[in-house]
Amino acid sequence: MDVLKGIPVSPGVIIGRTFLVEEEGHRIARRTIAPEAADAEVSRLDEALEASAEELRQQMDTARETLGRETAEVFGFHLGMLSDPTLIEPIRQRIREEHISAEHALTQAFNDLVTRFRAMTTDAFRTKVDDVWDMEHRVLRHLIGEHHSRLLEITEPVIVIARDMTPSQTAGLKNDKVQAFATDAGGRTSHTSIFARALGIPAVVGLENVTKHASEGQAVIVDGDRGIVILDPDPQTVAQYEQFRERHERFVQSLKKVACLVAETTDGTRIHLHGNIEFPHEVDGLLANEGEGVGLYRTEFLYLTGGDVEPTEDDHYEAYCDALRRLRGLPLTIRTLDLGADKYTQAQAREPERNPFLGCRSIRYCLQHLPLFKQQLRAILRASIEGDVRIMFPLICSTQEFRQAKMILRDVMEDLEDEAIPFDRDVPVGMMVETPSAALMANTFAQEADFFSIGTNDLIQYTLVVDRTNERVANLYTGAHPAILRLIRATVKAGKRFDIPVSLCGELAGEVDYTMLLIGLGLRNLSITPAGIPRVKQVIRSVDVGVCERLARKVGSFDSSHQVLTHLRKATRELVPDVFETDSR
Ligand code: PEP
Ligand code: MG
Repeated sequence: MDVLKGIPVSPGVIIGRTFLVEEEGHRIARRTIAPEAADAEVSRLDEALEASAEELRQQMDTARETLGRETAEVFGFHLGMLSDPTLIEPIRQRIREEHISAEHALTQAFNDLVTRFRAMTTDAFRTKVDDVWDMEHRVLRHLIGEHHSRLLEITEPVIVIARDMTPSQTAGLKNDKVQAFATDAGGRTSHTSIFARALGIPAVVGLENVTKHASEGQAVIVDGDRGIVILDPDPQTVAQYEQFRERHERFVQSLKKVACLVAETTDGTRIHLHGNIEFPHEVDGLLANEGEGVGLYRTEFLYLTGGDVEPTEDDHYEAYCDALRRLRGLPLTIRTLDLGADKYTQAQAREPERNPFLGCRSIRYCLQHLPLFKQQLRAILRASIEGDVRIMFPLICSTQEFRQAKMILRDVMEDLEDEAIPFDRDVPVGMMVETPSAALMANTFAQEADFFSIGTNDLIQYTLVVDRTNERVANLYTGAHPAILRLIRATVKAGKRFDIPVSLCGELAGEVDYTMLLIGLGLRNLSITPAGIPRVKQVIRSVDVGVCERLARKVGSFDSSHQVLTHLRKATRELVPDVFETDSR
């Protein structure tokens, strides 16, 4: 039994079997295959070898013309290696005899070769080590490129184990088959984690080396509440978890009763709960939990799930109308494209950036790609007559940016007018407050925006200088940092002063430890993953605004996130012990 500790990002406990997904450039886990699949696996290897050889022949021709004969010979050496039977034949043999994946057999053989080269006394051999890695990388790229489609071919319920998952891979998971996933990389607010929660798939990320420990088809428990993954659990542990699962199920059922009640504090203050969605069909789950509208529609998912085909204006329009139809008059806050960083894989980008979270992402990307931006704005405006639409611009850092975005919106309005296409001229236009600069200038922005939505996921990352997707610094990523509290307070205050609505749509809004604090800081609108609504509602219905305000003032005087969080947890547990049912193990 192997117990690994990671970051809990999507609740629920699943007991099942592992399914390994490899990623180019990373450790290859030992994946076994069925004996009858060995021939097909050898063919897969041969095809990858042939594709690599073809690529090398082309590169060799180009190099001969541009760099000369001698340099081109480097590729000749690589080509020779790929057709060397003393290297390749043992790989085929291992696949047939040990029933292991082509990737694993290949990395084993290349590792052995590197060990032999390193042991040689002459420099000539030792310098060949880089060539061997290069070759391994090349063949794996061909094997794994094809392998990625494995995720789509899952036919039986499995637990996916991977080094990392992209947000689009996660969003495309079939949740009737993928029961849970566990990854080496990731953080609590990386988009992969956010979608796992949206899909209701239990997940643990940031395990650092689960791919090293796991092997294909192994029994595994994923505990998404506590961030624990247990490989080869013993019968006693399985029995404990089975019991917990039953209790958890009863807890989820009891929460369903809370879902239909009003989100009102004990002194009668209404807190409005909206939902964060990535796809229109999520509106149904939101309404089932009595959400009052969509506070954040992450429209970039139209781009992330369509393969290489970019959505057309009509694709946008259809998606927005679909969401509006489902909402039956409730508001839909459409956030314009927030592509970039972890939501536009660098492989997709024409020119990968060195520092994508600080690069050309989000509104910056839109302002540099006007046809793409205008296409979306046209679709939103066309849909604006079909329901209660609001437009929100992401990652605003400066007034110029916000003004420029609004100016482009006006241009699009004029175009539509010229074409006699109807739209709502008074559509509210707001902005995300998710950068320290926007929060610090909230008083200025509040005079130009129709509403604010505080995006704590990015606000935390940019204020505390912690990459939200990096497991190595996940312990530094916290909404309880006094600086974050001050920025939220300043933004709420600016909203009140200039009389514009302020909502909070980062993941913090769904974390029950923070509910009292957020109410105490003056927030009356929260937007969260639909499935998280009942728990937050339960806290809201158990607390008094005066108590929350006192709590916010008290923790506001602390100088460390540890102190703040400890105090918040204690206060919430005392007042609403039932929402922590899942922790009582
Ligand atoms: C945020 O940054 O808090 C937010 C809600 O946006 P996203 O998670 O899509 O970056
Ligand atoms: Mg954000």
